[in-house]
Amino acid sequence: MPRINQLDAHVVNKIAAGEVIERPASIVKELMENSLDALATRIEVEIVKGGSELIRIVDNGEGIHPDDMLLAISSHATSKIKDADDLFHIHTMGFRGEAVASIASVSRLHIRSRQPDADTGREIEVRSGAIGEVKPCGCPVGTRMEITQLFGNTPVRRKFLKSLGTEFGHISEQFSRIALANPRLHAVLRHNGKTIYELPASENLLDRIHMLHGKELTDKLIWIEAEAGPCRLWGYVGHPSLSRSNRKLQYLFLNNRWIQDRSLQHALGEAYRGLLMVGRHPVSFLYLEIPPETVDVNVHPTKTEVRFEDSQQLYRLLLSTLRTKFLSIDMNSNMSLPQ
Ligand code: ADP
Ligand code: MG
Repeated sequence: MPRINQLDAHVVNKIAAGEVIERPASIVKELMENSLDALATRIEVEIVKGGSELIRIVDNGEGIHPDDMLLAISSHATSKIKDADDLFHIHTMGFRGEAVASIASVSRLHIRSRQPDADTGREIEVRSGAIGEVKPCGCPVGTRMEITQLFGNTPVRRKFLKSLGTEFGHISEQFSRIALANPRLHAVLRHNGKTIYELPASENLLDRIHMLHGKELTDKLIWIEAEAGPCRLWGYVGHPSLSRSNRKLQYLFLNNRWIQDRSLQHALGEAYRGLLMVGRHPVSFLYLEIPPETVDVNVHPTKTEVRFEDSQQLYRLLLSTLRTKFLSIDMNSNMSLPQ
């Protein structure tokens, strides 16, 4: 047996990148979440060639402290939690302190950031893990992250990227999830110089769904709302005539985070039992708000799977809310529905 080696930070980051950064869309997700955590009200995402050539995320958030620029690109360094106890009261999208370090280890990353009370900003560049100097720079308040040469030093990963159209499709999906989870965010997505979405801040969830999915779908959504103890559930579900052959338009958000949950997906299917043909799936935009200490989001690096303390209670809440609602309206009508 060879002796045991302690891996250096660059290798560790590249291994972590394998889990967190599967494709360009993962970078868009992680960086938009960072902007939200920095309380940005506006995020612009600029993509060139499906992200293989450029991913640029610009926000107007609180920025990075000038002395923390190096920490921002270090692994297991985060401004969001301090100790293990904090893991049970997560109020931010991030907390692992892994994303930026991972991204820096598989691309060329340029960061520019300025805090509101600072006269100048700071910039830093990392090329495939080689860290440059932190330098002062003039820039607006907020943070700009620019990624080029993605997977330049991991040719196998680069080779596994799908067509640019497919990669952009994944990016657009991540963008939509974040836009739907945060209707008050002004969010812009551009691809190859063309504006794909320009979503102004809105107080109205339906406006946002409309801008992303069009009028035809929006006209056939049914509003639901319920409470059970400290848990709140609200959102829209689709008239049966909107059903799809896949579950791509089944959105579920937990405390502003897009998640996937088999049990709640099952409850949704059960509620529509008898209303849809076999193999058809309802459309949904569901929002759950529950106390952060009753859910563990630290199950998977991308945090899309979570563990609920009482998943049965949520199952029943969703199922009974939908069933009661469906009984109160004429689901066989093809007309627009009263909201
Ligand atoms: P995490 O989000 O889990 O803390 P990241 O690797 O994504 O880890 O980010 C590391 C740190 O860099 C964050 O904790 C935050 O302090 C800082 N940071 C990253 N992106 C931004 C941003 N857009 N605005 C302000 N700070 C940021
Ligand atoms: Mg993060």
